[in-house]
Amino acid sequence: SGLKMYFPITAGVFRKHVGDVKAVDNVSFTIYEGETLGLVGESGCGKSTCGRAILRLYEPTAGAVRIDSKDVLAADANTLREMRPKMQMVFQDPQASLNPRMTVAAIIGEPLDEHTSLSKKDKLARIYELMDQVGLNRDFANRYPHEFSGGQRQRIGIARALALNPTFIVCDEPIAALDVSIQAQVVNLLEELQDRLGLTYLFISHDLSMVRHIADRVAVMYLGQIIELAPRDPLYLEPLHPYTQALLSAVPEPDPEAEKSRRRIILKGDVPSPANPPKGCNFCTRCPKVMDICRQIEPTFHEVQPGRYVACHLYQETAG
Ligand code: SF4
Ligand code: MG
Repeated sequence: SGLKMYFPITAGVFRKHVGDVKAVDNVSFTIYEGETLGLVGESGCGKSTCGRAILRLYEPTAGAVRIDSKDVLAADANTLREMRPKMQMVFQDPQASLNPRMTVAAIIGEPLDEHTSLSKKDKLARIYELMDQVGLNRDFANRYPHEFSGGQRQRIGIARALALNPTFIVCDEPIAALDVSIQAQVVNLLEELQDRLGLTYLFISHDLSMVRHIADRVAVMYLGQIIELAPRDPLYLEPLHPYTQALLSAVPEPDPEAEKSRRRIILKGDVPSPANPPKGCNFCTRCPKVMDICRQIEPTFHEVQPGRYVACHLYQETAG
């Protein structure tokens, strides 16, 4: 394939146990430098756990996550401390993730305090530079988070995430808590920063329209597993996995002609408990295309077309 294989983040096989609950099960994928990988799925499917496990904000129980060929999960405290600046997170709720008792300058400067020994003057210069980059007026430096709108608070969170020149940012539902009118502005800012700074994003969202806008490739999660991974356009135009087909059928088409012929696939039943996933395919209790084999054997996640991965017996040579 013509795709240049770049290596900054390889999230290998890892499992995250929350008590007995498998929130992330054998998830494995690669993120290419400079791309945006969208990670979609309903709430509770394990998206956020996956993002946090990659950054080692949670301890996965096994597996490998490589950034610039260094294994994040195997890293000792010192190595991890060296790697930390390269991988950052933008959180869903800027309100909850910003300390209300700290000024904007203190919030953005905190990572600089922890990881650099800049002089006061250089630190302030860097804080101003970061504020410029995210479109925050420098006059706001000594104000507190509650004095800002949700969109501005998210800009503060982004500035903080950028402070140490990261290469990889996990954006965990970065716009879900914002007014619809503000969402596009924040997404545009993220895209602009990506282009300017050469950032790589894992963009976690349940908003399939927004992911279609921002992502280069998209991974779909169900019950702690990635069940389909593909470049953006093929995934949206011709989803292969029945779960992806159902998810996308709920998204209104921008083109009125396409919208007229949109057929909504309504799934029956509830998402099973991750503590007690069904035998065979995780989706077999709700899949409109379920076959006998699906209740017996778990489909493997594998490449069915160049760059397209899916876990479903419909695309397995053994399907029958
Ligand atoms: Fe449906 Fe079977 Fe494919 Fe699972 S493996 S998604 S149950 S067709
Ligand atoms: Mg992009």
